[in-house]
Amino acid sequence: MSPRSKNFWPKLRDAVTKSAVLYNRLALIGTGLIGSSIARAARAQGVVREIVATAQSAATRRRVAELGLADQVAETNAAAVVGADLVIVCVPVGTCGAVAAEIGPHLASGATVSDVGSVKAAVLRDMTPHLPRGVHFVPAHPVAGTENSGPDAGFAGLFVGRWCILTPADGVDVAAIERLATFWRSLGAQVETMPAAHHDLVLAITSHLPHLIAYTIVGTADELAEVTRSEVLKFSAGGFRDFTRIAASDPTMWRDVFLSNKDAVLEMLGSFNEDLSRLTRAIRRGDGDALFAHFARTRAIRRGIVQAGQDSPTSDFGRPQPDLQAEPLPRPYALSGDE
Ligand code: NAP
Repeated sequence: MSPRSKNFWPKLRDAVTKSAVLYNRLALIGTGLIGSSIARAARAQGVVREIVATAQSAATRRRVAELGLADQVAETNAAAVVGADLVIVCVPVGTCGAVAAEIGPHLASGATVSDVGSVKAAVLRDMTPHLPRGVHFVPAHPVAGTENSGPDAGFAGLFVGRWCILTPADGVDVAAIERLATFWRSLGAQVETMPAAHHDLVLAITSHLPHLIAYTIVGTADELAEVTRSEVLKFSAGGFRDFTRIAASDPTMWRDVFLSNKDAVLEMLGSFNEDLSRLTRAIRRGDGDALFAHFARTRAIRRGIVQAGQDSPTSDFGRPQPDLQAEPLPRPYALSGDE
């Protein structure tokens, strides 16, 4: 069942423990796609008593207030964390260190500090020095998202059925880690814990490299002299269209991801280039067996992802478009009576 479907959320609510309050005050630093989705889901599940949110610009803070995403909208990051027992930093990865420096002196003793950054070793390195003793730092990465940004883009079901990876350093309080894991589970996520460096290697191949490839191919198509831009748009359903969704992802976020996960991305890019050279050679030599064997292997991987519940088997890429079904088929494709 899709997280966007009408029955999903009530069903999930029943599935998780009847909304025990896990934290008194949740402070969200950054209220874009991820921060606003956490706000919506945490409120829907009743797992926090109060939400305080902030953002960098006055315009976003105003919008957060208009949308009623938080009980309080704070003017500064420092003010937002006062009295919070859970602080989640939801800003681009390259900004996490500076945010930690701002909030560090104002954190309550015993509070849990977390983040949602797509890279973990750099966040751990940049934030840790600014966090006082007595605060539990449990970095996290919900592996869920869309190509949209900002507080309007979030929705409560974003994390349902997705993984959230926790990467605490050795020695962090186990009870604090377990409570944060329960928080994410209550938002519908499945939780796994692993070292930050391992997370970065795994995500380099499952997320960062695919984004780099999408950014590349969309740019390449745009620069072709012999194929016009209007032809690229018109015939995009041949595969290109699916890359454009990924290539529309937030430029700031992805700039920071590649700068922060440089080593792992370069390692995976090395393997990718070798494989691309192998396929190039097979095409040049007309080696159909090599191409077929490769494509058969990758088709099996796609089927495994669908079986694991991480995508829908329909060709809508997990995004049902009920509006389209309502449209009559244009002649001559429609059978008579279909209109
Ligand atoms: P987003 O929609 O662009 O939101 C970013 C938010 O951070 C905005 O509210 C922005 O405020 C705020 N912000 C930026 N600098 C700040 C600062 N110095 N102090 C306070 N707030 C600040 O981005 P997002 O997609 O939610 O991504 C946030 C984090 O989630 C990133 O680290 C990303 O790696 C991670 N993540 C993203 C996805 C995804 O698919 N998008 C998935 C998983 C994890 P303004 O609007 O005022 O600039």
